[in-house]
Amino acid sequence: MRILISDVVSLPTNGNSGAKQRVDIGVEDGRIAFIAKHMPRDSEQGQHQGPWDRVIVGRGRLVLPGLVNAHTHLGMTLLRGYGDDLPLMVWLQEKMWPIEEQLTAEDVYWSALLGIGEMLKGGVTTCGDMYFHMDAVAEAVAETGIRASLSRGIQDISGSGLKGLGEAVDLCRGWQGAANGRITTALGPHAPYTCSPEFLQKTADWAARLEVPIHIHVAETTAEVREIGEKYGTTPLGMLSANGLLDLPMTAAHCVHMEEADIVLAAQKEVRIVHCPTSNLKLGSGIAPVPKMLAAGLTVGLGTDSAASNNRLDIW
Ligand SMILES: [Zn+2]
Repeated sequence: MRILISDVVSLPTNGNSGAKQRVDIGVEDGRIAFIAKHMPRDSEQGQHQGPWDRVIVGRGRLVLPGLVNAHTHLGMTLLRGYGDDLPLMVWLQEKMWPIEEQLTAEDVYWSALLGIGEMLKGGVTTCGDMYFHMDAVAEAVAETGIRASLSRGIQDISGSGLKGLGEAVDLCRGWQGAANGRITTALGPHAPYTCSPEFLQKTADWAARLEVPIHIHVAETTAEVREIGEKYGTTPLGMLSANGLLDLPMTAAHCVHMEEADIVLAAQKEVRIVHCPTSNLKLGSGIAPVPKMLAAGLTVGLGTDSAASNNRLDIW
């Protein structure tokens, strides 16, 4: 398949906004073959030696690298608008968890397809996704062409920890590197308040053995910070550190309530933060101290969280 995107304005990624120029982009077999100065159709090299299977006229449009939605739950796209105007814990315990028990693998498959369609239309070409029935999500990712890091969300407060961990390990073994490398995997312990220290240690052992990163929710609400403080005498990030998770590559979603010492520790351990502002505001969780994180040298990405706690999967 040869695709030509003709006469589109290219936005350079080196921060040099003055270097914008009109270009033609050739794509062959799913890879960019060239980016060259735009040649009018009637010039000698016009249209860069076709024939092309498809020509996309880019005039008046901007081409830029794909966006990354670093934290989402595609299986929840069908739950958009269910449980509005509630704080996180009520939303989660009284609305989401009961209805999620009803979701089948087929529900999650269609939900993921819908979510991926919305993301691709919004320029997102890569996502970090955590949920259950993840084989169905992986199939949707493989079919659509998006790139994704997938993790089976796991916790052990319901007593189903080891079963979930087994499924999570199977997901990593079954899908790592699939779809021409577009699918990678991670282990996804839900959060410090839904996972016991023993369960987190087991998860960390498996992540090290499988050589996959950790994807987790951290310090999302003041209620979580209070609960972890009372139970363990430390912060959510401190609790994860005590159980070995920060010795692994880790993506930490939210991090709304981070103390100065947490930010220093996160920077030392190169924890990658995912800022999810719309979700944090919708659920009344607060506003993450992003300027302080950036000043400490942390890598901060953006996430929507699920459509159920945002209502959109649009990074813009
Ligand atoms: Zn989330």
